[in-house]
Amino acid sequence: MGVYEQVGARRIINVAGASTRVGGALMSPEVVKAISAAAAESASLIELQSAASRLIAEVTGAEAGYVTSGAAAGLTLGTAAILAGLDLGKIEKLPETTDMKKEFIISRDHRNGYDHSIRLAGAKFIEVGMNEQVAGAGVRRTESWEYDVAVTDDTAGIAYVVKIDSQPPLAEVVKVAQRHNLPVLVDAAAALPPASNLKRFIDEGADLVTYSGGKAIRGPQATGIICGDRDLIASIAMQTLDMDEHFEIWDPPEEFIPKKNLPWIPRHGIGRGFKVSKEQIVGLMTALKIFVRNNGIFNIDEQKNYLHILTNGLRGLPVDSYIVPDGSGQSQLHILIDENSLGLSSFNVCHQLKRGDPGIFPNEMLLSQNTLIISPMNLNGETTELLLERLREILYKA
Ligand SMILES: *Cc1c(COP(=O)(O)O)cnc(C)c1O
Repeated sequence: MGVYEQVGARRIINVAGASTRVGGALMSPEVVKAISAAAAESASLIELQSAASRLIAEVTGAEAGYVTSGAAAGLTLGTAAILAGLDLGKIEKLPETTDMKKEFIISRDHRNGYDHSIRLAGAKFIEVGMNEQVAGAGVRRTESWEYDVAVTDDTAGIAYVVKIDSQPPLAEVVKVAQRHNLPVLVDAAAALPPASNLKRFIDEGADLVTYSGGKAIRGPQATGIICGDRDLIASIAMQTLDMDEHFEIWDPPEEFIPKKNLPWIPRHGIGRGFKVSKEQIVGLMTALKIFVRNNGIFNIDEQKNYLHILTNGLRGLPVDSYIVPDGSGQSQLHILIDENSLGLSSFNVCHQLKRGDPGIFPNEMLLSQNTLIISPMNLNGETTELLLERLREILYKA
């Protein structure tokens, strides 16, 4: 019996990609081994995070870094750091921001469900710009002057979300921010691969950048990293770590937390509920090293092979399928469901896959365009065959 059956759940096959709701990316044996070794010995969390900071700095080119409980947590912690800095009074007050600079400027078309994490720290959004292309009303999108004219005495920072076609370009937004001496917080959760994006946004002048650890990096599902300015990372550490210590004999690594600039130790801060364990930190660090060593591409030849097995296996069935590059050096399989000829909608085929045994969960992004997307990132030889078998059953019945 598998481990999920033992606890009363079922094992599924995740062909949706690194989505959290289906368990994210699977970890490599090397990462799993590091996690179990970490679980069997103790470490000082501040020293371990300081070691992680050195690794994250090395691979991102930033001054410092921190392992968070995901990119969404990185957004909350990064916001808290920008709002409070190293000011113990402000750290104590968050998320109460009545007497602080608290406005974050954000482009309307960067708004998404994850930005709740920014508001969680006490920030208030000031929305700027339009996407008139999507609205069908024009040719323009948000432009950098719109950030410029939205700055007030209450502006604390700028929030920016990276997508393949984010507008305006980050470098232009950074220019505006620097003119007003404002920090830029970047959500790059899903911007990997390419591995070069680990350095890119810091290079372009972002002050803090957060990435998911459980997506392409293939670390533990509930991890992420945030990298950037040394004092902002120190603020994150002070607001997140367990700080129940005696000041006189507290020895934080000096380059990680500047004790000499602090009057005292803050109490548990707004980040305390976002704690990460020693196992998660070691797992993430191991996964990050592998990610960089492989230049961001994990078992690409095997993934291609599984996609070819699928397209060959689907030949002769009443669907069209195509291997489509996803723009990051990897590919996915698109399966087109013609409801008129098949008598089944894409939603129906997807639902049958999910409810079958084993449950198979495709990417649902293009379902309303009659397309199932199959991500190969979590496939192996066995699960590839199971997926083919289930597709044959469902499509032959139709
Ligand atoms: C996945 C994602 C997040 C959340 O990342 P977690 O690591 O799961 O917390 C945030 N923002 C964007 C744009 C994402 O795609």
